[in-house]
Amino acid sequence: MKITVNAAAKLNLFLDILRRLDNGYHSLFMIMQSVNLYDTVEVSVTLSGKTAVSCSDPSLPSDERNIAFKAAEVFFSRAGIENPGVKIDITKRIPHAAGLAGGSADAAAVLYALNRLFDCRLSETELLNAGAAVGADVPFCLVGGTCLAQNTGDVLSVLPSAPDVRFVLAKPLCSVSTKEAYEAFDECGKISHPDCTGALFCAARGDFHGLLGLAGNVFEQVVEVPDRVRIKTVMRQKGCSCCQMSGSGPTVFGVFDSEKKAAGCAEELKSFIGEVFVCSPVKSGLTEL
Ligand code: ATP
Repeated sequence: MKITVNAAAKLNLFLDILRRLDNGYHSLFMIMQSVNLYDTVEVSVTLSGKTAVSCSDPSLPSDERNIAFKAAEVFFSRAGIENPGVKIDITKRIPHAAGLAGGSADAAAVLYALNRLFDCRLSETELLNAGAAVGADVPFCLVGGTCLAQNTGDVLSVLPSAPDVRFVLAKPLCSVSTKEAYEAFDECGKISHPDCTGALFCAARGDFHGLLGLAGNVFEQVVEVPDRVRIKTVMRQKGCSCCQMSGSGPTVFGVFDSEKKAAGCAEELKSFIGEVFVCSPVKSGLTEL
């Protein structure tokens, strides 16, 4: 039997780092949004006794370094099942190390698919806890839609859905290491924090435009991204209602109230940016095909 899942990329509509925790992790305050840019993950049971991963992007590892592999290990250990052998095939469309949680989305898809293949051995809460053990954004990727994510990303609250806007995503050619971005934050003495209370007040009431007015991402103060200013200038000229970096970057997104404006912006960005996508918000992180 095989389960095939589309795993959605995420954007950070809001991202503040409240403080560094004693364990080295960071206390976060993030408003996350799933968008219809998907990796496709196929999971099937083999009788090889091992986990085998294949990935359409040759620049990513297809062994135990792939986060999908780690997700399978965590699943079997938490479910108390001996691994009979599973095959995981990943078709990548979400750029990696881009601030779009591409790896976390794949891990969430593996946890979900294995739980389906093995008779839902883990409850929803156990699945979320397993996700948190795999990576900070995995719990959100399991749930998706529009959520507030707190603590290290493992405390989730579902928020009213975003309206049917268009997001233009511009991914410059460079990659950003999330670990290095946090190190840069830790070394930076002076950070100006966005208005978490105000943003949550708007988001919880479904006031999406109010939320965009207060949007912010503290990583923009510590991570250098080539062309960020130029990307934002184009997005503003093309009529976006907000533009900012997602996660630790380098992807910058703009929010548009019409398909036409978004398409015009994407067209212009393509003349100097490697990868450009026009996306819509979606209400779940995983879709079984
Ligand atoms: P986040 O927004 O959660 O910080 P990101 O988009 O910045 O995520 P990912 O795409 O999740 O970063 O991947 C980060 C690193 O993880 C990559 O550099 C890659 O080497 C490694 N990795 C391992 N498995 C995968 C996978 N299945 N997909 C993408 N990256 C993977």
